[in-house]
Amino acid sequence: MTQAYNFSAGPAMLPRQVLKKIQQELLDYGNAKASVMEISHRGFDFMELAQRSEKDLRELMHIPDNYKVLFLQGGASAQFSMVPANLLRGKTKANYTHTGHWSKKAIAEGRRYCDVNICTDSSTNKYTDIEDFSDWNIDPDGAYLHYTPNETIAGLEFDYTPELDMPLVADMSSTILSREIDVSKYGVIYAGAQKNIGPAGLTVVIVREDLIGQVVDSQPALFDYSIQANNDSMYNTPATFSWYVAGCVFEWIKEQGGLSSMAKINQTKAQTLYRAIDNSDFYSNPVASKYRSWMNVPFLLADDKLNGLFLERSADANLLTLKGHRSVGGMRASIYNAMPQEGVDALVDFMNNFEKDYG
Ligand SMILES: *Cc1c(COP(=O)(O)O)cnc(C)c1O
Repeated sequence: MTQAYNFSAGPAMLPRQVLKKIQQELLDYGNAKASVMEISHRGFDFMELAQRSEKDLRELMHIPDNYKVLFLQGGASAQFSMVPANLLRGKTKANYTHTGHWSKKAIAEGRRYCDVNICTDSSTNKYTDIEDFSDWNIDPDGAYLHYTPNETIAGLEFDYTPELDMPLVADMSSTILSREIDVSKYGVIYAGAQKNIGPAGLTVVIVREDLIGQVVDSQPALFDYSIQANNDSMYNTPATFSWYVAGCVFEWIKEQGGLSSMAKINQTKAQTLYRAIDNSDFYSNPVASKYRSWMNVPFLLADDKLNGLFLERSADANLLTLKGHRSVGGMRASIYNAMPQEGVDALVDFMNNFEKDYG
């Protein structure tokens, strides 16, 4: 099989070594004499896997002991509801940044639970820039501040962690594990798995212990962080196969040298691609350079009419899923952890040749 590079924004590329490992042990997992998909989540083999994956994630992210790590379902979108349900804790207001498509969705769900104070709004610059933190309008009565460190669609990524006197909540779906962060600065971190962790179906939530246990009335039990934590994320059947693959990905990241190594690799990949874009008059990216995403790189062609041809030729060259989100147009290359430097180099070669032929 030819090696293709998949630039999908999600579900996204997985490391090839991980896929091979899964293939190898698919029919017979550990001592189970059955596939990992066919065994009880309460049996020895799966319990061992669950514990090991949590331990590896804690090690990789240096998660302090006073944080719970949950392996849930419902995607990042379910967290848009679970966050207010659990974190309001008697308050009626919360602060949200509006920096892109996903924060907008989080805001819409937040409004079902509380008064949302938009503390900064990037829709005025089409999600290409972020107002200085010192100018944000933060309501001190808010129960928390929710933000989206990496906006997957516009490719807008914070290069710092906002620090303030209330719990900080981060939707890290498209940036988790791409670089080192200080978990102790956050109240809640959550991420749908299908970008940088594993297959769809799993959501990782990292939550500070003192914030749980005060869920609003009339919520489903599954939405209560404390019930999930007290049941080791097994109040009901978890997404066992996705969880297993996530564990394999954590092991793979450890083998790569952990998050400091991933950060170096990711930064170099992003620099390679942005340099190619900036060095050409044919390609452009509108995002303020400081806030350009390491993970999702949208770019426009000087002539819209060439988009179709670009996609056709790039697919022929085994460079897949480069079509940009419909709200942005043009192209988008998602270059998560699993994308090797060679994939980015192949894309840049292709872009240069395409510009020579048609630019
Ligand atoms: C993909 C994505 C989501 C949506 O995730 P689901 O798992 O489909 O709910 C939310 N936030 C961000 C930042 C994303 O990239």
